Amino acid sequence: MPHTPEPPSLSWLFQGLPGTSPIRTNSPEHGDTHALLVRDGRIVALGDDAVRLAEAEPPEQRVQVSGLLMPAFGDGHAHPMFAGLEWFGPRIRGAGSVEEIIAAVGAWATEHPGEDWIVGASYDPTLAPDGVFDAAWLDEVVADRPVVLRAGDYHTVWCNSEALRRAGVTADTPDPRLGWIVRRADGSPSGTLREWHACDLVLDRVPGRSVDELVEALGIAGARYAECGVTFVQDAWVEPDMVEPYLVAEERGRLSFRANLAFRADPDTWVSGGQVAAFTAARERVHARSAGLVTAHTVKFFADGVIESGTAAVLEPYCDAPHTCGMPVWAPAELRDAVTAFDAAGFQVHIHAIGDAGVRPALDAVEAAQAANPAWDRRPVIAHVQLVDPADLDRFAALGVVANFEPLWAQLDPLQRELTIPRLGPERAALQYPMGDLAARGVRLSFGSDWPVTSPVPMEGVAIAVTRRTDDGLPDEEGWTPHQKLTIDQALDAYTTGVAYQVFADDRGVLTPGAAADLVWLGHDPRAAVRDGDAGTLASISVRGTWLAGRAVHGTP
Ligand SMILES: [Zn+2]
Repeated sequence: MPHTPEPPSLSWLFQGLPGTSPIRTNSPEHGDTHALLVRDGRIVALGDDAVRLAEAEPPEQRVQVSGLLMPAFGDGHAHPMFAGLEWFGPRIRGAGSVEEIIAAVGAWATEHPGEDWIVGASYDPTLAPDGVFDAAWLDEVVADRPVVLRAGDYHTVWCNSEALRRAGVTADTPDPRLGWIVRRADGSPSGTLREWHACDLVLDRVPGRSVDELVEALGIAGARYAECGVTFVQDAWVEPDMVEPYLVAEERGRLSFRANLAFRADPDTWVSGGQVAAFTAARERVHARSAGLVTAHTVKFFADGVIESGTAAVLEPYCDAPHTCGMPVWAPAELRDAVTAFDAAGFQVHIHAIGDAGVRPALDAVEAAQAANPAWDRRPVIAHVQLVDPADLDRFAALGVVANFEPLWAQLDPLQRELTIPRLGPERAALQYPMGDLAARGVRLSFGSDWPVTSPVPMEGVAIAVTRRTDDGLPDEEGWTPHQKLTIDQALDAYTTGVAYQVFADDRGVLTPGAAADLVWLGHDPRAAVRDGDAGTLASISVRGTWLAGRAVHGTP
């Protein structure tokens, strides 16, 4: 149990103008309402009851609501610490060309002469043919210090020659088991490394960050989340050294979002390294020390990689590389054993599965755990769910799997057009992100951003889920794979109640008496935007305020 109370919070009355009901409770029983009263971090009353109680005992703050007040968003899959750390290095996110990236790295190196390693993220992997970037390009601006940059997918790094030298990567270095060293025609390493074991050749040499720096990263991430209306997050990749910064950030009042941590299970060391016992101990530590913002219910597995690098596991070979079906991270039997073991220890499993041969063994593993272990409220999660063999769609509902989608990915953007569709071919490409198919089967959907891979702004994802069109309106009025579009209510639910269910927070995602006062105030009602034929404006709906447990963390109403 938490040993300290949550930070003190004000009492609030939120009220619409006369005759309006701009508060979406997200509860079938209460529907939309005109007033909401908050005390001590929780919702105490709705509608006329709220107004009456506020008259009897006036609240400290009153907010006149226009637009829409609704449950705050949750992010069902993200990496806030990695996102915050991007502020510590060269600003290459959003750079529009290789030249821009190189210039940013050069400028940062000049401004930071004392930093030995130059570490940055996230560059756009579509800026070079096949996503292959050369060390020599970085050597032009920094030759004497190591430079390592992560690609936007976080499955690839680009480094300079000094980084390769420090890591001992040469033409003679064999490819590791999981990942590969992209080579030039003469066999020398190009500077692009794909997937963990290859990336780790260099990343393992990078000096670690202090707890203070990691706390700072969480503070930066939290400020950004507050601006977006997000108050709870599934951190989908936690290494042992990331636990302390979360707890310290909370103790120092620097954590402005709730986080459920997912410890990453490693196929090579989960047995030899005693990960079941280690994660169980870490979970106990979190739950003993956290005042309530941090939980650790979950273990993360990577079933495979990503399609744009050709590392997602696919049932039929890649069209552009007919000799390969990608790179499963776990042998299927090993994944079954590991999922069963962590499930037996009371951990929720959260499995990254992108290709159809990643999704199938993930479902098989969940099925095996359910057959082997006693029943419990396990809420297994498969994340990303990019390519699903139609034969597997029914299994999500049958196994009670939560399908976590990153809705921003479901659009015909350059990543899809240039690096994905050519690898999958048109038939398989049309099967991607089957949100509509799974929703129709009664599967629980949750949404996430995978930030910093893609934008943390939920309304941008909601817009894509509803329209399946890019910012520039591609491909057409109907959208891409239009039968997979969701309704605006389904999309909002996936980003609120869907994530709340996923992280075992049944008092979030709804605004009913007793629920947490985690709120977002939007400048415009997204349901009205869709009704009025303005779905194209969803992404730009403003966030006027965000409340975490009744505490304003963004906006000055
Ligand atoms: Zn992720």
